[in-house]
Amino acid sequence: MSQFTLTQEQDQVRQLVRKVAENRIAPRAPEIDQTGEFPWDILAVLREHELLGAVIPPEYGGSGLGYLSACLINEEIARVCMNSAMVVATQCLAMKPILIAGTEQQKQTYLPPLASGEKLGAFACTEPDAGSDTGAMRTVASLRGERYVLNGTKHFISAGNVADVVVVFARTETSQGLKGISAFIVEKDTPGFTCGRVEKKLGVRASPSAELIFSDCQVPRENLLGGTEGAGMSVLMRTLDRGRVLQAGLSLGVAQGALDFAVSYARQRVQFGRPIGNFQGIQFMVAERATELEAARQLAYAAAARADQHDGDVGTLGAMSKLFASEVALKVTSDAMRVLGGYGYMQDYPLERMLRDARFLIIGEGTSEIQKLVIGRALLTG
Ligand SMILES: Cc1cc2nc3c(=O)[nH]c(=O)nc-3n(C[C@H](O)[C@H](O)[C@H](O)COP(=O)(O)OP(=O)(O)OC[C@H]3O[C@@H](n4cnc5c(N)ncnc54)[C@H](O)[C@@H]3O)c2cc1C
Repeated sequence: MSQFTLTQEQDQVRQLVRKVAENRIAPRAPEIDQTGEFPWDILAVLREHELLGAVIPPEYGGSGLGYLSACLINEEIARVCMNSAMVVATQCLAMKPILIAGTEQQKQTYLPPLASGEKLGAFACTEPDAGSDTGAMRTVASLRGERYVLNGTKHFISAGNVADVVVVFARTETSQGLKGISAFIVEKDTPGFTCGRVEKKLGVRASPSAELIFSDCQVPRENLLGGTEGAGMSVLMRTLDRGRVLQAGLSLGVAQGALDFAVSYARQRVQFGRPIGNFQGIQFMVAERATELEAARQLAYAAAARADQHDGDVGTLGAMSKLFASEVALKVTSDAMRVLGGYGYMQDYPLERMLRDARFLIIGEGTSEIQKLVIGRALLTG
């Protein structure tokens, strides 16, 4: 069900990804969640179907399908397995800053292997004392001869321990506030760069959340993103503006997967001599959540379409789409689990996994409160 008019190409993308997701990814979803191991076999499937580089133009090795298609890819994969969709979303998050701000040389070197999935990427901004308040970051980078020397610690970095290439945000100027932040492309074998602990967590368990430690880490000068100091905060904001649209795609997917399962269950589960789907209490709950989900979908697709217009300001709409879709995903997965009664609480059914995974969506790439700040500021002080 969708009133938003997709182009024929976008519709084909959805159909193809749905088929791949149902046949090749869904059967692995419970085990991936149980073991919490990075799904290398799923990465191979994503590579085979060229699903990692939708927002990267063909000249840099991507498919150039754009944000709406990327949103559909995230949605269809998250519908069956959020951990697998996180591989796509994280890769995109790592590529975007390079596409937005990289020099031609940086784009030519790093984007093709990331877009194809030959190499994995990560995006490292968050620190133990700098989460929502990214401007409080303490990781520093000082130029010494032809190298920047990085010192500091990042944490909660998705795919940080499996990535070949990490975009790292650090201070090149301690006195200039937000203007003193720069971004660097750091390769995994760079001297002084190590991985610390990998978190144990509630959901998206196979999307590793790693601590990255930079201890006199020697980064070649040419790996300063865009070759300009002080541009880091602007790159970060532009990356997140569009990234939020793709996060909304993850929310739509996990919510749709949960709703589909609950509806099918409610048609079959008999209590008091009737399928529970015949009870008005269940019908109202399903109707309300389905309506919210469709509203979230229309908003997310509108924001994605805006992101596809190159000069389109997607900031406010992107934040709205992420805020609304992630909160809806939490509500839908929670109520879908309710429809299954006690069975929903058990690991034999996918609802408890979906609810745990959905919980991440109101945190990653800015919490719901931060989305409200972005929207509120645009309305009241912009
Ligand atoms: C599974 C997972 C994967 C992640 N992946 C990455 C990644 O790949 N790269 C990366 O850099 N980071 C990543 N993160 C980090 C994520 O972006 C941060 O956790 C998030 O931005 C919140 O920061 P924090 O955890 O420090 O919470 P805090 O910033 O300490 O927030 C705590 C609470 O205070 C609220 N709050 C904070 N400031 C305000 C305010 N001004 N007004 C109102 N409320 C406020 C928040 O909304 C939240 O409810 C990941 C996190 C998770 C859980």
